[in-house]
Amino acid sequence: MTPFAYHRPATVAEAVLLRWREPASAFLAGGQTLIGTLTAGGAHPSALIDVARIPDLAGIRDEGGRLVVGAAATHATIARDAGSLPGLAALARVIGDLQIRNMGTLGGSLANNDPAGEHAAAALGLGADIRTDRRTLPADSFFTGPFRTALDPDELVVAIAYPRPRRAGYAKMRDPASGYPVVGVFAAETADGPRVAVIGAGPRPFRLPAFERALAAGFGPDALAGLTVSAQGLRDSLHASAQYRAHLIAVLARRAVAAAK
Ligand SMILES: Cc1cc2nc3c(=O)[nH]c(=O)nc-3n(C[C@H](O)[C@H](O)[C@H](O)COP(=O)(O)OP(=O)(O)OC[C@H]3O[C@@H](n4cnc5c(N)ncnc54)[C@H](O)[C@@H]3O)c2cc1C
Repeated sequence: MTPFAYHRPATVAEAVLLRWREPASAFLAGGQTLIGTLTAGGAHPSALIDVARIPDLAGIRDEGGRLVVGAAATHATIARDAGSLPGLAALARVIGDLQIRNMGTLGGSLANNDPAGEHAAAALGLGADIRTDRRTLPADSFFTGPFRTALDPDELVVAIAYPRPRRAGYAKMRDPASGYPVVGVFAAETADGPRVAVIGAGPRPFRLPAFERALAAGFGPDALAGLTVSAQGLRDSLHASAQYRAHLIAVLARRAVAAAK
């Protein structure tokens, strides 16, 4: 591992200034992805800027019709404290294992944009806004490709604002080795109509317009009966074929709708 400096700024402004002054530095949150990448020699930052304890990135609060979750909130915190948005709490509760949930953060998960990263499903499924140190990015245009987002390289995610749905639910098929989803589906009945978002199945998270149209007639699992998904363009890997993932999407969409609260 290449030696690096370590900074622990107290404010967003300080973190962004440090990052700007050292272009080869990186933000560090829970470290569940980044530290593994460093130890494997996959990245060589000149400095790590630890944002996990910045007060403005912590906590969960109500803001009118929105639930606003700080970027440094861990999956365990969200599972425990996002009770007023049960679909989001349910998703956080089934991420990885206990250590991952205690250390991994919402902002780290979204910024990393692993194609199987589960928070992307709720962000896209609820039509959330990703607030950064300099602007607000809608989830619909945030996830640009595998491990790629609309963030500038030195941009810090500060919070995610979720519009409160009438109800929302999540279902996943868990890879027994890693805990990551083979496929995960988040379904929500929102003020603007139904939204269904899929992770784990494609190069980036995506919505299912045909399923959303069917749910507009009545938000229940029966509305999705007979709907299928094409395997074209889906991931095909050691863990699951594209055909199996397509089958899982339809099954998990019905389960997510049935689980919606
Ligand atoms: C064994 C294992 C199992 C896992 N299982 C699952 C699972 O089942 N489901 C799931 O969804 N995830 C899973 N994860 C991923 C994990 O939950 C975290 O979401 C992920 O590691 C990233 O979050 P982090 O806080 O650890 O980020 P870090 O590792 O600290 O950072 C990841 C990247 O995000 C950047 N970053 C961090 N915070 C910010 C910010 N606020 N603004 C801008 N950029 C930022 C960093 O610079 C880095 O590039 C698993 C990880 C491991 C190692």
